[in-house]
Amino acid sequence: MEYNYSYEIAALIIYVFCGFLLIADKGTKRRQNRILLAAFASCVIGTCCSLNTAIIANEGVDSLDLLFKISQYGYHITHCLLPMLTFFYILEITGKWNQFGSFKRALTTIPVWLFYILLVVNVFTPIVFYADNGIYMRYPGIYVEYLAAMFYVVVSAVILITNRAVLTFTKKIGMFAFFMISAIGVIIQLVSPMLLVEVFSEALGLLALLFSVEDDRASRDVVTGITNRNTFVADNMRFMSAVSNYQVVFVKLANYRNFLEAMGVLAMNEILADIATWMADDNQEFEVYYLENGTFAFSNYKWEDFEVERLVNKLRLKFSDYWTFGSITIPFNTQVYVVKVPKDVNNVNDLLSLIDSDNSITDQVVSIFSGEDLQFVKRKSDVEAAIKRAIDNNSLQVYYQPIWDSSRNRINSCEALVRLIDDELGFVSPDEFIPISEQTGQILDIGMFVFETVCKNIKEQNFKDLGIEFVDVNLSPVQCMQSNLDETFKMIMDKYGVTTDQINLEITETAAAESPEMFTETMNKLKAMGFKFSLDDYGTGFANLSYMVDMDFHIIKIDKSILWNAEESEVARVILDNTIRMIKEMGVNIITEGVETSAQRDYLRSVGCDYCQGYYFSKPVERDKFVDYCRSYGNEINKAVN
Ligand code: C2E
Ligand code: MG
Ligand code: MG
Repeated sequence: MEYNYSYEIAALIIYVFCGFLLIADKGTKRRQNRILLAAFASCVIGTCCSLNTAIIANEGVDSLDLLFKISQYGYHITHCLLPMLTFFYILEITGKWNQFGSFKRALTTIPVWLFYILLVVNVFTPIVFYADNGIYMRYPGIYVEYLAAMFYVVVSAVILITNRAVLTFTKKIGMFAFFMISAIGVIIQLVSPMLLVEVFSEALGLLALLFSVEDDRASRDVVTGITNRNTFVADNMRFMSAVSNYQVVFVKLANYRNFLEAMGVLAMNEILADIATWMADDNQEFEVYYLENGTFAFSNYKWEDFEVERLVNKLRLKFSDYWTFGSITIPFNTQVYVVKVPKDVNNVNDLLSLIDSDNSITDQVVSIFSGEDLQFVKRKSDVEAAIKRAIDNNSLQVYYQPIWDSSRNRINSCEALVRLIDDELGFVSPDEFIPISEQTGQILDIGMFVFETVCKNIKEQNFKDLGIEFVDVNLSPVQCMQSNLDETFKMIMDKYGVTTDQINLEITETAAAESPEMFTETMNKLKAMGFKFSLDDYGTGFANLSYMVDMDFHIIKIDKSILWNAEESEVARVILDNTIRMIKEMGVNIITEGVETSAQRDYLRSVGCDYCQGYYFSKPVERDKFVDYCRSYGNEINKAVN
């Protein structure tokens, strides 16, 4: 009977093809690739040996007897490595390599060493196989090789199953295909030893692995060639549910936008690719992601603390120097965030918030953020949850702060200020939760709630009779991006029979100065309906006064910081005097905020400020208290003035 070795030739072709593909595509830098490459190499040697023995056996060339023997040994020495390498590969892709430790890993090689001892014994007396003059016979020792393989298959399967959650669906299917296809060949050859189909089925199995587990084309970023943002999100979602503790390191080029504008997209793309290459090549142990907008991430569920530390130091060293790209040197202002899951962040949204968080550029070339520094993300998600609770439970409140009319010495209007008092977080300042709600879109619900409550209170509490001519309502620029805001407002006002002259809308200086088209369009629609606008926080931004006049503001609200500074310095006082005069000359009314003392009130009245708002009169208070305050004001003012 002759050996049929055509399958082995086919296997050899597949192995060589796969090996080339692997080296060309991924190189040998990552352990995962090195293990795979070792598997290919041992398969190639094993297959060559097996082929050799089959040919010699078929041809029966006596003079090649030594080569025949050597080839048999070569085959067994290399072939028994494949199951062990597969096991190592699985350890690596499931992130268990480090956790297993070198001692445990060494222990797992025992079955292979046992078989090797048998092979040594076999040189003297056949216990694994007998090979002589083209004749090959198996001896019971061969089953140790099968048992060893079984051992690796079982432990691999256990590790795969217990860590299945860290693998994508494709990877799971790939591993399954690898095992099934390989097993079929082994079984066939066991039953029919002359049909050398085992190495061929193993080659097919490895091919399946290469095109599933190792295929990452869809997950790569086009510009940098490294893993992209979508994959980062997907990977971290899996890690969070599967791995209790792990770390993510972000590298954010904080002044990336400036360089992008200065150098153009094409040059920047090349620089990013250059950085990505350094990151991927020099930090082979880590999965590197490009998250767009000049942010990179190293996310790995496999990490040990010391590895993260080493990486951070490496990054610090690399980025504290200018980044050289050809003849250009770029001083990137780099922020490195070391994030512990779940301690610092426990969901993917917060992880992404960190990337998008706008931390101002510092003087430091490289700033490292970790632990406590990252508490703001947790706080942010806590606040977001509190806002959601408040909206769902309808527990937001509207407070009113009176505004004093200096010429008539009475309260003529008020500002509506939203309040969030949460069961868990207690009082949360609008300065904190309004910006968050603007990012999440919750401001739309908050805005509607405030607007409707104000309309309801104007009607039900009869604000007009209290001497309140209108109520100031803060309007977020995000609300102004809704094209139908005017219709919604109209619907609510009609419901309560409130008219536009009873409400005054406030927008901040920054929002007004940066207003995009949609914003102006909405504002114009609201003006056409009869609403008047106030410019809030005047003096905190960089708004151009003549532009402000073009926008036709009814009132300008001078920010409290301007008033407070005026008390501190003569120059600031002169500025405030002149600002008030200038605004008056333009025929616009003025409210000054932050009036806390009678001296401030008297001073403002003397320089012609029309209205004052501040704790001196009253803090923002709930509706009933505000109503009481207005009713009792006449007495109070006499006390205050005299
Ligand atoms: P704002 O519109 O400039 O409101 C004035 C802020 O100054 C209020 O803070 C008020 O309590 C505070 N204030 C008034 N007088 C004094 C004073 O004499 N001393 C001191 N220290 N503070 C005084 P609040 O209520 O914390 O609101 C902060 C900001 O949150 C508001 O600034 C406004 O921009 C925003 N906000 C509040 N409610 C709403 C709302 O319903 N919608 C929107 N979009 N934003 C709101
Ligand atoms: Mg305001
Ligand atoms: Mg203000």
